[in-house]
Amino acid sequence: MVEKFDAIVIGAGPSGNAATYTLAKQGLKVLQLERGEYPGAKNVQGGIMYAHELEKIIPDFRDDCPTERHIIEQRVWLLGDDNYVGTNYRSEAFNSDKPNRYTIIRANIDKWWGEQIRKVGGLQICETTVTELIRDASGKVIGVRTDREGGEIHADVVIMADGVNALLAKRAGLQDEAAPENVALAVKEILFIDPELIQQRFGIKEDEGVVIEIMGKVTKGMVGTAFLYTNKESLTIGIGCLISDFKNGDCPPYRMLEDLKKHPVIKPLIEGAEMKEYAAHMIPEGGYKAIPQLYGDGWMVVGDAAHFNNAAHREGSNLAMASGRMAAETVIELKSAGKGFSAPNLAAYKKKLDDSFIMKDLKKYRELPGIMHGNKQFFGAYPDEITAAAHNWFTVDSVDKKSKEKQIMKSFIKRRSVMGLVGDAIKLVRAVR
Ligand SMILES: Cc1cc2nc3c(=O)[nH]c(=O)nc-3n(C[C@H](O)[C@H](O)[C@H](O)COP(=O)(O)OP(=O)(O)OC[C@H]3O[C@@H](n4cnc5c(N)ncnc54)[C@H](O)[C@@H]3O)c2cc1C
Repeated sequence: MVEKFDAIVIGAGPSGNAATYTLAKQGLKVLQLERGEYPGAKNVQGGIMYAHELEKIIPDFRDDCPTERHIIEQRVWLLGDDNYVGTNYRSEAFNSDKPNRYTIIRANIDKWWGEQIRKVGGLQICETTVTELIRDASGKVIGVRTDREGGEIHADVVIMADGVNALLAKRAGLQDEAAPENVALAVKEILFIDPELIQQRFGIKEDEGVVIEIMGKVTKGMVGTAFLYTNKESLTIGIGCLISDFKNGDCPPYRMLEDLKKHPVIKPLIEGAEMKEYAAHMIPEGGYKAIPQLYGDGWMVVGDAAHFNNAAHREGSNLAMASGRMAAETVIELKSAGKGFSAPNLAAYKKKLDDSFIMKDLKKYRELPGIMHGNKQFFGAYPDEITAAAHNWFTVDSVDKKSKEKQIMKSFIKRRSVMGLVGDAIKLVRAVR
């Protein structure tokens, strides 16, 4: 006989974990399937985890969650050829007993989630790939087929939390293939380093962390960003650009990362560190306009599989946890009201998303992906001009300041023209309003 659950969750990343935990905690019979050998085996994240969403699901997570450092300083750098223009925000308030953001190593966090799920009675089975959704004659999703022998399992509702590729939804005809300009490919390394060196180089104490978000010449004119994060005994460094740009460009991702590590501003921060892990992964960056159908008869999609990623703020795992929680809460509410999981009933999930920061933020930045994709000057000409202007301004050479201002303006106009500059300013405002 085919086994039946209240809900099946596919994937043990932050979205699937949040959904499974929330369902199991309310006493529902939930099965979570993960293709990796263990939770986290297949997962890549640069490594900032946002506490607020996790706290909503597991309020006392700080008691035993294996975080790395709590972040007290955020830097944003625009890199030129051998320089950078940047801004920092550092605050003692981030040293509270309930810090807001942590650096993490995903494999450790995903394993911890597995323990929490077991504690509340959820069933997590690894090394099991879901190969397809099973539907009844009416087209309603009633379960999944896995790569295990006799691997057919039924459930009242299936939550797809299988990440950016969203293969199951695509195979079932519920999602189209993502356009290459809507997906970034990121590569990252974890570099082992003496914690003392981390503390000295970044000006922090034992548990404190610094994160640096990087833009500019290192992406070689492609739409992309890079990052450098401090863990306890390691640094995470990575870079990612749109797949459409990698396809048309002549610099493969691994070379871009090597060049980033050699950049004169970055090199002294990572000197002496040894590579421990190398990974590559995709990130859904198409924003609001790339969001697929989110629910249907017997199914919902959450996290990266639903294209929930705020590239402007480098937020992904929090949208994943929030959407997983909201999908689970929808199931719990429908079940306790004695209602079924038809598409009209599951529309309640979309309503929750619309009312939340997820849809509000993605809607705010809905024009950003298209504008960035079509305006490469933001990743080439402007980093050049801004870093050159800073160099000119801060070089004391007996040229009067008015003349310097003129030189700088002239250089910007030569590169973009007056109309070009005005047009770019309008585009930027449209992209972030
Ligand atoms: C390089 C990089 C850096 C990032 N940095 C940050 C950051 O600093 N902060 C942040 O908040 N976000 C960051 N993100 C984004 C974040 O990692 C994602 O938004 C988040 O992991 C999405 O969670 P998810 O659960 O939806 O998907 P995933 O984490 O991708 O999890 C999906 C899970 O499903 C499993 N799976 C897939 N298919 C199947 C199947 N058929 N059967 C069974 N299991 C399956 C996979 O093995 C995986 O475990 C980063 C992403 C990358 C690539």
